[in-house]
Amino acid sequence: MTPPTPPTFQAVHDVVHHIGGALHAGGERREPVYDPATGAVARQVCLGGPKEVAAAVAAAQAAFGPWADTPPIRRARVISQFLRLMEQHRDELAAMITAEHGKVFSDAQGEVARGIDIIEFACGIPQLLKGDYTDQVSTGIDNWTLRQPLGVVAGITPFNFPCMVPCWMFPLAIAAGNTFVLKPSERDPSASLFMASLLAQAGLPPGVFNVVQGDRATVEALVDHPDVKAVSFVGSTPVAEALQARCARTGKRVQALGGAKNHLVVMPDADLDQALDALVGAAYGSAGERCMAISVAVLVGEAGALVPRLAERVRALKIGDGMAPGVEMGPIVTRQALARIETCIAAGVAEGATLVVDGRGLRVPGHEEGFFTGGTLFDHVTPAMRLWSEEIFGPVLACVRVPDLAAAVALVNSHAFGNGVACYTSDGHVAREFARRVEVGMVGINVPIPVPMAWHGFGGWKRSLFGDMHAYGEEGVRFYTRQKSVMQRWPQGTAKGAEFAMPTAR
Ligand code: NAD
Repeated sequence: MTPPTPPTFQAVHDVVHHIGGALHAGGERREPVYDPATGAVARQVCLGGPKEVAAAVAAAQAAFGPWADTPPIRRARVISQFLRLMEQHRDELAAMITAEHGKVFSDAQGEVARGIDIIEFACGIPQLLKGDYTDQVSTGIDNWTLRQPLGVVAGITPFNFPCMVPCWMFPLAIAAGNTFVLKPSERDPSASLFMASLLAQAGLPPGVFNVVQGDRATVEALVDHPDVKAVSFVGSTPVAEALQARCARTGKRVQALGGAKNHLVVMPDADLDQALDALVGAAYGSAGERCMAISVAVLVGEAGALVPRLAERVRALKIGDGMAPGVEMGPIVTRQALARIETCIAAGVAEGATLVVDGRGLRVPGHEEGFFTGGTLFDHVTPAMRLWSEEIFGPVLACVRVPDLAAAVALVNSHAFGNGVACYTSDGHVAREFARRVEVGMVGINVPIPVPMAWHGFGGWKRSLFGDMHAYGEEGVRFYTRQKSVMQRWPQGTAKGAEFAMPTAR
């Protein structure tokens, strides 16, 4: 299929805020937003300050009462209208993502599709909010539970999924009756603003969903605002950890998803052709800028023979502008991120790992100023190296060789992160043991990127998630609501006289 022409929306020079149903260009600071394929400044994003944050939270606070009182089925109808609009505009949104993030168009389409899945899940909110009821917990007394929204909630999202990660948060939050302030990544801020316009077209009342563009200062003003009741964050681990601590100080509910270093274990009994395809796609897809990207290949015993074949595939990667047909890997999001990735590669060489394919310094003809690097492959990486322990967030795959399954599981479990992991094997017992023993939140058996579907919930373990609840799925519903228990009896069923003993079932 032919990719669509970039949307007219891109003509907007400044990417602004969406507050109380209207566009605002507030904030004194601006930051450039790049086209990573050309390196050119495409537009500017307004960075909101305390004033814009206060306006957005006030709009959300004012909208909360009426929206929370709207019957869930009517809230669901707005979400379902939004779902239809997202389906209509999916390619336009995908092109917008490619233009600012750099990922290839088919990958951006996949991201939008996974976001749409969660919007569809949120349409079931009447069922998801249904409480439980016990008739006659004691003679003449009934007891039931219900789930109520929290109020204004904030979402802070990373650059790597400018549509999907916001969709992990706001569809469920607003379907559950909350109002929302989103602070998208300043690297690729247009998708959120576009979704805000679709929500308005879907009939969402002004103030229920607001977007404040910005950076660290904006985030801190938002998280500290006394009317913000809960914070959902997705981004790097140091920021996730700091935000969790910040929320804990003020007693706010928080879910903060952080960084990752995901391993793919290849057992000698695996279908090695499939394992090879999986490694190439999962390590270099989206230029490795995915929190579920595979960045470590754990080659067990004879599976080490895969390295030369991997190298051949990495050298053959088709790298270029994400909108060009046939391209498998686009540019890196910014010049700074590219420089950091290439510094990590140099550090890996200095640590003594074997550099099998060096992607540094790639120039794409016609895109000489674009933020490109090639695929990089290291072999003989050890757990003593930063190449193994640190997140690089780029197209760099580190191969570690181990003798058996026990050593593979021990290696994975010794890592500080625990986001995703995969095991390629044809042995059911190995698969079962692996899935049970591994200390990671999301596990794929012959599935390289096991991102759970909308109704299952997403979340890592250890330093990949701070907070108790995972994103979306039923845990998402619980995160955005509070349980209330009601006990009721009527005068006819009430005995005379004060009761001083602890009430028990009678
Ligand atoms: P980032 O942490 O730099 O930024 C994330 C968000 O936080 C952005 O909106 C940014 O403006 C804001 N921010 C940045 N620094 C801040 C600070 N000091 N204080 C407060 N807010 C701050 O992350 P990124 O570079 O946009 O995204 C990549 C990271 O996100 C990677 O570490 C990746 O693993 C992680 N990620 C994790 C998941 C997950 O589900 N676990 C999903 C996607 C991305």
